[in-house]
Amino acid sequence: MTKITGIETIRTRANGTWLFVKVLTDQPGLYGIGSASDHYRCKVIETAIETIAPLIIGRDVSRIEDIWQSIYTSGYWRNDATLNTVQAGIDMALWDIKGKEAGMPVYQLLGGKTRSAVAAYAHAQGDSITELEDDVRRYWEEGYTVIRCQLGNYGGGGFLDRANARGPKNHWPQDKAFDDDAYLQAIPEMFAHLREKLGWGPKFTHDVHEHLAPHNAVQLAKLLEPYRLYFLEDLLSPEQVQWYRLVRQQCATPQAMGELFINPHEYLPLITERLIDFVRIRISKGGGITPARKVATLCEWFGVQTAWQEGGDNDPVNQMAAMHVDLASTAFGIQEENHFTPEEYELFPGHAILDGGYLYGNDQPGLGLDIDVAKANALLDPDKASKSYFMAEDRRRDGAIVRP
Ligand code: MG
Repeated sequence: MTKITGIETIRTRANGTWLFVKVLTDQPGLYGIGSASDHYRCKVIETAIETIAPLIIGRDVSRIEDIWQSIYTSGYWRNDATLNTVQAGIDMALWDIKGKEAGMPVYQLLGGKTRSAVAAYAHAQGDSITELEDDVRRYWEEGYTVIRCQLGNYGGGGFLDRANARGPKNHWPQDKAFDDDAYLQAIPEMFAHLREKLGWGPKFTHDVHEHLAPHNAVQLAKLLEPYRLYFLEDLLSPEQVQWYRLVRQQCATPQAMGELFINPHEYLPLITERLIDFVRIRISKGGGITPARKVATLCEWFGVQTAWQEGGDNDPVNQMAAMHVDLASTAFGIQEENHFTPEEYELFPGHAILDGGYLYGNDQPGLGLDIDVAKANALLDPDKASKSYFMAEDRRRDGAIVRP
């Protein structure tokens, strides 16, 4: 029996928002790594891992499911973003160890490959439609099949200048106001332009970032139907997912949802009632490979696909964990691309390669990548890492916050 002898954490990225777990064992040189990153509460996760470590030190590394269940109930309250991230970091590391012990990549332990590589979608963006068109063309020429199209950042296309916003005289000092109708006008126009200029070759997605009131969200899904999106993402906030029933009754625009989901009760009805088409849970925020493979299997039976969330603040270990599930699952649809710098990639020997719209892993045992702790420590900028990071706040004309 191989025993867990210790749990270490490694905090890195210049701003200290990446956190990795290293599960050590009593076998010489045998350890596993996992992702427990959190852009906003990284130090909280680090402390939570230290708190939970004594529970599993001394246990048999082979009992991945049992350890997952044990941590799940260890603090009585469960299904929260912090606990899930802690569980995921340890869970990925245990799968990594199991693969190393078996001499097999994790996707082999999950049943073996069902595809040769992992399709990824690109993030195209522009402050104007023509800027966006140029960015879409760039990705299309790089080889991407599916391209997310955004007019700037969260809510882009829906903002009014303060001068035109008709806000109250005592308005708060925000320089722009989000307006549902401006968004309902801009986004269909954006896709009309892209289809006219680029035809029907590229597959398009769009992320609403939950900015619309639910009735306007239904309207947008209908307005976008003629442009045949690959999917429309985060049309509704997690608090308003019951509205997906009404979206389904109104139009056939495919729906992708789930990057904020942390509790199975949030996604089970959407899958089993076939109210969405793509599930987008982040592997680390859903609790790791163990629950993700269960979600993928459930999706398979109900004809729903996976599009695990990645994006800007995620890390190469989470990316690779998602890829192993993707490779072994027939429910796989697509995975989101990431944005790592060359110096960040250097920390992870064996990291996935993104080339022409596909992610390629390797056939090394376990997850297939390692972390260079010395380089990770050197990359961390103590000044930046000591700061707190928060989501940007978008507000309506009267100052009310828009949920991101
Ligand atoms: Mg999103």
